[in-house]
Amino acid sequence: MREKIKVELKNLTKTFITNKNDQVKAVDNVNLTVEPGEFVCLLGPSGCGKTTTLRMLAGFEIPTEGEILIGGKNVANLTPDKRDTAMVFQNYALFPHLNVYDNISYGLKLQKLPKSEIRDRVDKILELMKMKDFAHRVPSEMSGGQQQRVSLARALIMESGVLLFDEPLSNLDAKLRLHMRDEIRKIQKQVGISTIYVTHDQEEAMGLSDKIVIMKDGMIQQMGSPREIYQKPVNEFVAQFIGRANILDGTIAEEKEGTVILDVHGVRYETEKTTGHIEGDKVKFMIRPESFIIGGKDFKAEVTKSVFMGSHHEYEVSLFGKTFEISENNPMRKITADTGEQLFFSMDPNSIHILEK
Ligand code: ADP
Ligand code: MG
Repeated sequence: MREKIKVELKNLTKTFITNKNDQVKAVDNVNLTVEPGEFVCLLGPSGCGKTTTLRMLAGFEIPTEGEILIGGKNVANLTPDKRDTAMVFQNYALFPHLNVYDNISYGLKLQKLPKSEIRDRVDKILELMKMKDFAHRVPSEMSGGQQQRVSLARALIMESGVLLFDEPLSNLDAKLRLHMRDEIRKIQKQVGISTIYVTHDQEEAMGLSDKIVIMKDGMIQQMGSPREIYQKPVNEFVAQFIGRANILDGTIAEEKEGTVILDVHGVRYETEKTTGHIEGDKVKFMIRPESFIIGGKDFKAEVTKSVFMGSHHEYEVSLFGKTFEISENNPMRKITADTGEQLFFSMDPNSIHILEK
């Protein structure tokens, strides 16, 4: 196994000039460190600059400003093949006329390695990917999932320091996507390769990442572990983008050591302090649908939707002129409220997260 590589993006910016001479700032002053062996997802809606960031890393796009360091080395002037990166594309990009063996060995042949070494390395990768039986098939004789495994094998065999993925699973059906996600994570751990993975699918990002980077309009909104991002989103955009979120109004009634007393329409909860707020401030806070205590006494609201989903029961209730999403987990044998009825509930103070200003 090779040594693990650190990747650093410093003030990275890309401005495209369109043919009508408009400027499009696709990536806006991005600062990001990928620790050696780390799995980092760039997550955000379509058009937020994920692909452009990845393409600058790979060397397919020249930054307008900023630096890219791979293993401490500034790669600005290096062509893609000299960058110690390997990329897996959404559309697999396999050679249609070559079989699996030849597709995977292609890059090594270009490097003019001895035949015996090429054979050894291809065998090892086919073993790792459990694809030995497919070695002689051409892409058209394989499913999408199998083709994507070949394209992953082709990237891994180069033994680069950094693996780049651009929405590699979006052409696969839901079940296969889940399977491939687990496989990618397992192999990445096994190989220990630093990985940057672009997706617009929040579940994929949650399931894969050590670190998630949330992007919007070319800018990083927040980065952190899946748990940090889910529990402590910095703003409404992040809260809504990852999972489901209720955004509500409250007032900071009192400041304490590390906590505050939050007044929510007359009900007071002691909850963790978010920097930047002082006593008397009107704030927005987030609470996830699963963080309500159903049957609690603090609030009473009319149910506008009530759906039993098996593993959970979904409610929409109307209160303070807003619609809340509430989810009762593990609803087996519990009594539920129907549409038009009243639901009593409280909020779990530990699951209230006050958003930054
Ligand atoms: P994502 O991968 O997050 O969907 P992209 O990085 O592909 O986003 O694009 C970011 C923004 O840059 C978009 O507004 C897109 O239209 C624009 N863009 C991307 N490539 C070009 C280009 N070659 N010329 C002009 N604008 C571009
Ligand atoms: Mg893209």
